[in-house]
Amino acid sequence: MALLAGPVGAGTVPPGGVDPVGVWPLSPEPPVVHGFDPPSTPYAAGHRGVDLGGVVGQPVLAALPGRVYFAGRLAGRGVLVVAHGGTRTTYEPVAGVVAVGEQVAAGQRIGHLEAGGSHCLPRACLHWGWIAGERTYLDPLRLVPAAPVRLLPLWRDAPAATTATPLGSAFAGVVGGLLGARR
Ligand SMILES: [Zn+2]
Repeated sequence: MALLAGPVGAGTVPPGGVDPVGVWPLSPEPPVVHGFDPPSTPYAAGHRGVDLGGVVGQPVLAALPGRVYFAGRLAGRGVLVVAHGGTRTTYEPVAGVVAVGEQVAAGQRIGHLEAGGSHCLPRACLHWGWIAGERTYLDPLRLVPAAPVRLLPLWRDAPAATTATPLGSAFAGVVGGLLGARR
């Protein structure tokens, strides 16, 4: 688990070794209010995902195709988890409209953004996480093209690489290649 914060290591690579290409869980493309700050140990402080600005009631979309793994309330806030093979995306606070076991498509509405439990109070935002295996937190911005470059470096030891992602309609293949090349 000590590999969590490093740019290279088994803990940073999802099964298959290549980041899947997904969609933003809010539409239109939301501002990133808080970036990813993985904890140095499984129980240390940190930010185990990103916060995306939104409005209460806004549809929340599955970032990748998968199967609903958890839909319910944890500590008073609505939480959705969608499994994608060896990884899972998490969404909160969200009032879910899907049931555990349901198959969902990328971009499919899975719930609506709630206010309670927001990491951005008094504003609303979606805390979006990406987890590999049991408890390896990955940066979910790796799932979407055109990750904002105004954020802190996503790769502590190779920050320049985060500015190299091009925009454009052909991004899927291009980004896939870059992601493979930069580790
Ligand atoms: Zn958060």
